[in-house]
Amino acid sequence: MHDPGELQTKLKALSDTYAAQLPEKLKQLEQALSQLPHTEWDEQGFQTILRLVHGLIGSGKTFGFASLSDVARNLETYLRQLAQAKTAINKDQRNHILGSMSELHQAANHRDVSFSDQPGLIAVAQPGQDAVAPRRIFVVEDEHELAEELKVQLGYFGYDVSVFNTLEDFRFALQQTSDVVVLMDVTFPGDRLGGVKLMNEIQQGRDVLLPVVFLSAHDEFEMRLEAVRAGSIAYLSKPVNIGNLIDKLDSLTSTKPPVPYRVMIVDDSVALTAYHTAVLEQAGMAVKAVNNPFNVIESLLEFTPDLILIDLYMPECNGTDLAKVIRQLDAFVSIPIVFLSAENNLDKQLFAMGLGGDDFLTKPIQPQHLISSVTSRIRRSLMLRSFMVRDSLTGLLNHTAIKDLLDGEVAWALRQKKPVSFAMIDIDHFKQVNDSYGHPVGDRVIKSLSRLLKQRLRTSDLVGRYGGEEFAVVLVDADGATAMKVLDTIRDDFSQLRHLADGNEFPVTFSCGIATVSQFPDAAKLSDAADKALYKAKHAGRNQVILADDPSASSSKDK
Ligand code: GH3
Ligand code: MG
Ligand code: MG
Repeated sequence: MHDPGELQTKLKALSDTYAAQLPEKLKQLEQALSQLPHTEWDEQGFQTILRLVHGLIGSGKTFGFASLSDVARNLETYLRQLAQAKTAINKDQRNHILGSMSELHQAANHRDVSFSDQPGLIAVAQPGQDAVAPRRIFVVEDEHELAEELKVQLGYFGYDVSVFNTLEDFRFALQQTSDVVVLMDVTFPGDRLGGVKLMNEIQQGRDVLLPVVFLSAHDEFEMRLEAVRAGSIAYLSKPVNIGNLIDKLDSLTSTKPPVPYRVMIVDDSVALTAYHTAVLEQAGMAVKAVNNPFNVIESLLEFTPDLILIDLYMPECNGTDLAKVIRQLDAFVSIPIVFLSAENNLDKQLFAMGLGGDDFLTKPIQPQHLISSVTSRIRRSLMLRSFMVRDSLTGLLNHTAIKDLLDGEVAWALRQKKPVSFAMIDIDHFKQVNDSYGHPVGDRVIKSLSRLLKQRLRTSDLVGRYGGEEFAVVLVDADGATAMKVLDTIRDDFSQLRHLADGNEFPVTFSCGIATVSQFPDAAKLSDAADKALYKAKHAGRNQVILADDPSASSSKDK
């Protein structure tokens, strides 16, 4: 997040530039007026004047010239009436306009006193914008066996775990590093709230609280209360449900790099674009400004924004036409389009929205309002987009999405002559898991495998839930041997996870078939071959990975 004070300075500088340009703008307007013929109606000349006046309405208030905006708005209303009659401007009318012009000149010398001390902006948090969270875990637990078990189980999910059996050891280790998540037992020998008390003490001296998850054999309100006071983000009862614990840890330790929201601004006014860009960038967004609507399509494809802000009135191409053009591009049918304009006529706003806009913001717009409108629009649109392609239980890509993406990746790999492999995974004897422990436990097993896949594969790889207990993975830039190695490690780790149901622990395994694009050079053949390899793996005894049509190392069964 950038410094709000920095934004104030930037906005002040933009306002200064605007103030310096005002005399030239008014001169242009006067020139256009003087060129209007006395004896006939000049539609084109009149439209130019209207556009110049309209521009002052939105920009004036934005840069601290509110009275200039007001005079311009009155003048615009008057000019619109004249434009309906479409007859040459008479002397009275000309005088009226000249009167407004001198008011404009006066207003141009009066900047609002409040402009330079606008309230500072509140930072708007965006997803993934928190500092990248630590993946190191400190387990503080006096029961040696439980501590070691946690270390092993968390290790399977890619966490780096250090174990401390006493509070003193933990306190000492914390002097070396504090970029960790703490898993803290509540009760220690001699002190039934020892873990909570120590955490409380440690948190007192910190600006940013250490994330801590408490583990306790006792579920009492008093303990939970003390735990919350010591900064707990979760309180888990023993025996620890690893699935739950991993859910909590995953939410704390997202490995995804922060992705700023992307906004494209299309406005012919360079000054206003600079202003809105500064405001949105200050809120941490990536902004692309386009002043010429004719360059929009090119920039769209290159920048791929999450939202487009469009000025309603631009010479040569107005905002509503531009929105229609954008909506006709397949990739942008659902992108949020927000009109930004000095137009305060509700009918016209509604009309513009009927033509493909999603929202209408009236200039001048308060920085905070601009940021929150844009943020909430983008957040909602990204969520809707993810509902369309994500499976609700696991958050993985759904069947359709992964198939579509596979098509794209295969085409790309063939063009670039790069390897791509496709893996199909199916949990072994899953019906028995459901039958023995119930459907909800089965769901948890599905979730644990999906988490393991997400954590272990690279972010460029695509992971999907293909069906009930079937998964599909597209390994980008990986040949058969590499894919084989990666998935076999995951297979081995998964087989060692202990799932928990009614106090029982049980293991689950999966089988996997892999095919690679160099041997099956189209998406249909590739997925068919992976499916057949999976079938082979099942028949060869399950808990193994088989590479399609690889005569040498076809099986990887161990143990
Ligand atoms: P195999 O090793 O041959 O794959 O045996 P299996 O029992 O896993 O195979 P089968 O395809 O016969 O059974 C899959 C079971 O998965 C049947 C279905 O009830 C269950 N299932 C499918 N989707 C879900 C789900 O979302 N949640 C749960 N809990 N079970 C599911
Ligand atoms: Mg199965
Ligand atoms: Mg199945």
